[in-house]
Amino acid sequence: MNVDNWMIEESFRNTYSMGFKVKAFLHTEQSKYQKIEVVETESVGKLLLLDGKTMVSEKDEFVYHEVVSHIPYMVSRSCKNVLIIGGGDGGVVREFVKHADIQRIDLVEIDERVIEVSKTYFPECTSGLSDKRVRVLPEDGFAFIKRAKKEYDIIVVDSTDPVDFASGLFTDEFYQDVYNALTDEGIMMNQTENPFLDEWGIKNIYSNMRKVFPVVSSFTAPMLIYPGVYWTFGFSSKKFRPTDLDPAKLQTMTGIQRSLKWYNVDWHKGCFSISNFHKTMIGQE
Ligand code: SAM
Repeated sequence: MNVDNWMIEESFRNTYSMGFKVKAFLHTEQSKYQKIEVVETESVGKLLLLDGKTMVSEKDEFVYHEVVSHIPYMVSRSCKNVLIIGGGDGGVVREFVKHADIQRIDLVEIDERVIEVSKTYFPECTSGLSDKRVRVLPEDGFAFIKRAKKEYDIIVVDSTDPVDFASGLFTDEFYQDVYNALTDEGIMMNQTENPFLDEWGIKNIYSNMRKVFPVVSSFTAPMLIYPGVYWTFGFSSKKFRPTDLDPAKLQTMTGIQRSLKWYNVDWHKGCFSISNFHKTMIGQE
């Protein structure tokens, strides 16, 4: 929502909002799927919005993109093939290409225009898309995942909120398809909303993930541009617990993490120790 040069971001159930003072409107278009906007703000730099909802900002994008990629990478024992569903801004791909042992990264994004607009306005996010290991597949992730069987070591669901064409990506049917698409030690990562503002939604998402995955955990990381800033993420796995890091990767990660802005191995080990409030919300004993 745009009110007198303030871009207002409402929570999923429209009961809470936060605002970003806009310096300039840089881009607006209606793609086949959604309204795509880019604005320059005072507080978070360039900001990408889809159907009026904040997606990515220059100021805080590193938090989201680093945590959903390096956490599963460090737990996975053999990380060769990665799938990202959504993620057209390219930020998650950029993080995975930092790992030389990954052989293939598939990005299944329904809306090619998001990728093109991101290349123009967020080149620091899309820099990994030209890596030879990356395949960009313009398709609905809900349909794509049904065809994949035991193919991926890590699947990251980096989608928009659970409405319209993204709503299927939060169902137990979809999580079952993700499970089937993962190898025997596979891991799924996703963002799971703000528990203060969407209690019903978060309980529903975690209950759906538990119907399918034997290991389901959660952590928080601050996202300045998402309503309430307190943001939760899900880690679902067929075998490994989220703090069961692969010792073989520790040395290389020590080098890589020097250039990261949020993720480091110490933070990873601690972030799954969560509050009683958080445990109640996700139904964890
Ligand atoms: N990190 C952001 C967040 O959590 O709000 C998401 C950013 S990324 C730009 C979200 C992308 O998911 C959008 O570009 C959207 O087109 C894509 N998307 C939504 N539903 C999808 C689907 N069913 N299949 C593939 N991509 C989808």
